[in-house]
Amino acid sequence: MFFLRGLSLCEKPTMLTYPQSNLIWGTIMAKNKIQFQQGFSLQEFFSQYGTEHQCRQALIRWRWPQGFSCPVCGHDKYCVLKTRLLFQCNRCHAQTSVTAGTIFESTKLPLTTWFLAIYHITQSKISVSALSLKRTIGVSYNSALLIKHKIQQVMKERDDSKPLTGFIQMDDAYWGGKKRDGKRGRGATGKIPFVAAVSTNKDGHPVAMRFSQISSFSKEAIQSWAQEHLSTESTVVSDGLSCFRVLAENGFAHTAIITGGGPESVELPEFKWVNTIISNVKRSIHGCFHAISEHHFSRYLAEYCYRFNRRFDLRQMMPRFCYVALRTEPCPQRILKGA
Ligand SMILES: [Zn+2]
Repeated sequence: MFFLRGLSLCEKPTMLTYPQSNLIWGTIMAKNKIQFQQGFSLQEFFSQYGTEHQCRQALIRWRWPQGFSCPVCGHDKYCVLKTRLLFQCNRCHAQTSVTAGTIFESTKLPLTTWFLAIYHITQSKISVSALSLKRTIGVSYNSALLIKHKIQQVMKERDDSKPLTGFIQMDDAYWGGKKRDGKRGRGATGKIPFVAAVSTNKDGHPVAMRFSQISSFSKEAIQSWAQEHLSTESTVVSDGLSCFRVLAENGFAHTAIITGGGPESVELPEFKWVNTIISNVKRSIHGCFHAISEHHFSRYLAEYCYRFNRRFDLRQMMPRFCYVALRTEPCPQRILKGA
């Protein structure tokens, strides 16, 4: 997927026309501020989070920015049991670790391994497969997969708590299924349906995205999705699929544009960004992952959304992610697997 390396999810190549001859000179990327921002380099990462002590101290700062607070009684005086790296409350004597009650709970892996995984997944332009993560951070494939799913779970819970607002382009989308069943898009067998929504600012530029796996494109499913993921001030534009009518029935400002289907319909300016981003996410998933089970698909979508929604400041990705991870409930493997 080398051709995607230079593309962020919201960009299309810019055609340059040579002025004197009107010849198309070539296709190059416009140098935009977001894409060419200063990132967070590996050298900086290792200087800040290269040791277990540095990672633990960072987690302590992010978990208790105002100083320690006992998770049982809220008391702020404590002593540290140094051999077991535990905090003991001076009032109720409850013992806790910085990772207890968080997504990092019960991990047997060093914090440096977690930090490296978080670094790679949050700084990546498209995504990092568990196989690639296994090689990069030096753990077993199963451990890499588990870390990746937990990181995705944090991302999903975080974004699910922040409804989209503003002008929203919305569409129905599908993933996977049998390759040669003769059907594509709506009505195709074995496809995973997902809602694709992109909010844009007043200049028409994409701001945030929310892609959510749903059971089907029924009125009930769209109603429940909209109530969870759209603010009431949203203005939504979609195609004429009947289930989207439920938006207006539930008080959202909604315009349905009858597209008539066909390739021209994806070129409509009203759907420019949602179609571009659906297409880029699908290409990226094809390029990065061997296979994604239906059970985990929503987390993979959430990973793309989380990175896209925070693409404006790559240097803040580590602290922002870890701050939220420390406030995300533990999610052991049996829950991730849905057992
Ligand atoms: Zn206490």
